[in-house]
Amino acid sequence: MSENATIRGELCWGGVPLTQLAERVGQTPFYAYDRARLAARVAAVRAALPGGIGLHYAVKANPMPALVGFMRGLVDGLDVASAGEMAVALDAGANPLHVSFAGPGKRDVELVQAVASGVLVNIESMREVGLLASACERLGLPARVAVRINPDFEIRGAGMRMGGGAKPFGVDTEQVPAVLKAIGHAGLQFEGFHLYPGSQNLKGALIAQGLLQSHELVLRLADDAPTPVKHVNLGGGWGIPYFPGEQALDLAPVSDALAAIQQRMASELPGAQAVLELGRYLVGEAGIYVARVLDRKLSRGQVFLVTDGGMHHHLAASGNFGQVIRRNYPVVIGNRMDTVAREVASVVGPLCTPLDVLAERTELAPSEPGDLVVVFQSGAYGPSASPQAFLGHPRCAEVLV
Ligand SMILES: *Cc1c(COP(=O)(O)O)cnc(C)c1O
Repeated sequence: MSENATIRGELCWGGVPLTQLAERVGQTPFYAYDRARLAARVAAVRAALPGGIGLHYAVKANPMPALVGFMRGLVDGLDVASAGEMAVALDAGANPLHVSFAGPGKRDVELVQAVASGVLVNIESMREVGLLASACERLGLPARVAVRINPDFEIRGAGMRMGGGAKPFGVDTEQVPAVLKAIGHAGLQFEGFHLYPGSQNLKGALIAQGLLQSHELVLRLADDAPTPVKHVNLGGGWGIPYFPGEQALDLAPVSDALAAIQQRMASELPGAQAVLELGRYLVGEAGIYVARVLDRKLSRGQVFLVTDGGMHHHLAASGNFGQVIRRNYPVVIGNRMDTVAREVASVVGPLCTPLDVLAERTELAPSEPGDLVVVFQSGAYGPSASPQAFLGHPRCAEVLV
């Protein structure tokens, strides 16, 4: 966030000064995603990864079609978590060979759609094996599958845990051999394994440890595979700093772990490729959310900036997207970047609920109605993860610049 360009006191995003960008969009609130930042982040990840590791984008983090289309050209594959996301990925021109589909509750029709599309299905239950077998038979097409493992260990450091212990995600390690056997009997096209430990992990050493443990587990389970393993999706969950005191992820230990994994895989699972699936880490820092100040209220000594945007577009910044403690995302008055003076103000939305807070008692340039509030770190889990219908306010716009 330190290297933000400004022109005449205005934040520039995608090279466009903020007020001009608002005019171009034709409304506030809006999200803006910067192509240059997306490309730079993918390049930085590639530079940190040992050669040969596949890099996938997890569409869930930001499914805006134009962004998915742009990302498709930068990464090696797209991971989707519903038939809706699968349609976005395929419309964006993704090669189905490089699309994989995970999710704890895939509807029957979604499994049929996956077979008809030729994408890789990460199997998460015995039920899915049966449904895929009948889809194959009916359509006369192969079903490409991997097994999503719920490991018998926890990966520490993730903000939201999605693996280890009792979980609805994936197949428990103990049950994997039986599922592999069923896959073999059903004649599904087995390709490999998938693990996804959880989201928003900021500790490189813990991510590295999780990768090594996951890889170890895959090597163990591969003995029961019906055919040689070709694909090992080791997940992601790499975090970005949102709050004061949080440090950007140190990729050095992650890179070392992946190099060790590559080396062992070459001898123990020859022909298999390791893949990472990253959502937030690739897109989160490339996006801003912009809302306009509607009113400036003074209540018993405290300043409230009431904007036309809020939790209905940006649930995460309001602190209601799985956070235990509400903390402020980085926020600025985007058309007053040169102002040195500071006041303490709270930024709230127009919804008639105390949950609708974008920033609580934070230091900002003094502002007036008409000014533009910018929330940084907003490229992931924005509009698609927010209750846009709540209270009947207009939806936000999204642009890729
Ligand atoms: C949510 C999810 C992702 C993306 O997580 P990020 O924390 O945004 O990187 C990737 N894979 C699976 C299976 C997921 O459920």
